[in-house]
Amino acid sequence: ILAISVPITLSVIAVTGWWLGGMAMQPIRHSYDHLQRFTADASHELRSPLSAIISNSQYGLLSKSSDPEAQRQRFQKIFDIAKSMSSLVNNLLFLARYQGRLPTESLQEVDLTSLLKQVIDEYVTQTEAQHINLIFKLPANSVNVLGDKLLLHQAVVNILSNACKYTPNSGQVQLQLYTQSRWAVIQVTDNGIGIPETDLPYIFERFYRVDKKRSRKTGGFGLGLAITQQIIQSHGGEIRVKSAVGQGSTFQIFLPLTSKGLGIGC
Ligand code: ADP
Repeated sequence: ILAISVPITLSVIAVTGWWLGGMAMQPIRHSYDHLQRFTADASHELRSPLSAIISNSQYGLLSKSSDPEAQRQRFQKIFDIAKSMSSLVNNLLFLARYQGRLPTESLQEVDLTSLLKQVIDEYVTQTEAQHINLIFKLPANSVNVLGDKLLLHQAVVNILSNACKYTPNSGQVQLQLYTQSRWAVIQVTDNGIGIPETDLPYIFERFYRVDKKRSRKTGGFGLGLAITQQIIQSHGGEIRVKSAVGQGSTFQIFLPLTSKGLGIGC
């Protein structure tokens, strides 16, 4: 009996150990793959503008042309590329810095009604220039959440600027704020190009662009939604999207209301 049961027991222990080990390794492997892909994507995104800066400055150094306008244009090109690289690096630093929930001591009571009014003020000129009809529906009262005002401002601007970016001239973008049980909801709806159903599950991933050519033209790196989702999740909130190609998209940001926002103890 011993001769049979000992090897069987040992094999069961070995197989269970291997299986449990594999299970435990899964999340680590997933994080590692994720990190590796992120690093590869970030390096790839930085490599092409860097090559453009190198080739433009090399050409400028070797060129015998004394045309000041040509020189100015080359400097302008280098400046523009460097600025866009700087924005990419800032975004990457942001994604690395803000992981998890924000510490309570860094949060303050934020009135979303006035925050959205400020965003609208900043956007009116741009939407007018693009002939986009910007409609806003804000409540008369304040809607309070606990948060970091600058980060929330950035989250709304990211969603609103995408709505304008992916809506053709003469289109319509609607910005709305309302409450739903214990949530404040910021809703941005556009009647632009929309997002294919197959891409929807991935659009919050870092560096994901639906149409690489289209985004290149509009200057995006595919980081805006990843940053926005990170900001909202760090506030204990959630972001949702509904979209149909050729009809438009609706993004909803859910943020937990404070007791003041819920009308308790005011
Ligand atoms: P990008 O900087 O490329 O706009 P984002 O992370 O902000 O990156 O968005 C990811 C992708 O989601 C975009 O490349 C675009 O294809 C798609 N997208 C985001 N918002 C909209 C929208 N309102 N309408 C259509 N497509 C959108």
